[in-house]
Amino acid sequence: MRCPRCESIEDKVLESRILANGESLRRRRECLSCGYRFTSYERIEEKRLMVIKADGRREMFDREKLERGVQRACEKRDISQMTIEEMINDIEDSAARAGQSTHEITSRDLGQMVLKKLYALDSVAYIRFASVYRQFKDVDEFIREIDSIRNEEG
Ligand SMILES: [Zn+2]
Repeated sequence: MRCPRCESIEDKVLESRILANGESLRRRRECLSCGYRFTSYERIEEKRLMVIKADGRREMFDREKLERGVQRACEKRDISQMTIEEMINDIEDSAARAGQSTHEITSRDLGQMVLKKLYALDSVAYIRFASVYRQFKDVDEFIREIDSIRNEEG
């Protein structure tokens, strides 16, 4: 941030505060060259993870939607709510890491993350989720999918 008095760009931040609207940040700064104190306002750029769907549309990553899908797949299976929560946390973390530079992830990659988790957890939940999520054209396609995950598991 350029000092309004001497135009040096070397400064230190004394204090940062998020304003009530949640969208801007107010910072008290001190110029390292001349010691002048000034205030800067910055817009907080919230980079939300976007999911790119198969048809190219983009939508905001929606944890609740993901959780609903997984819950449905796990219905009446012996899987605790805590296990589901942990799984969703892991998936959310992986998705955020995968989309770190672009803030984007394809719905296919996201689905793949869920499938891998469910495959390790419960075969019935896995098959339920896969059949809804991937909308396989035929049984052969489904079997290829299972084989490919099996191979990755080693
Ligand atoms: Zn200065």
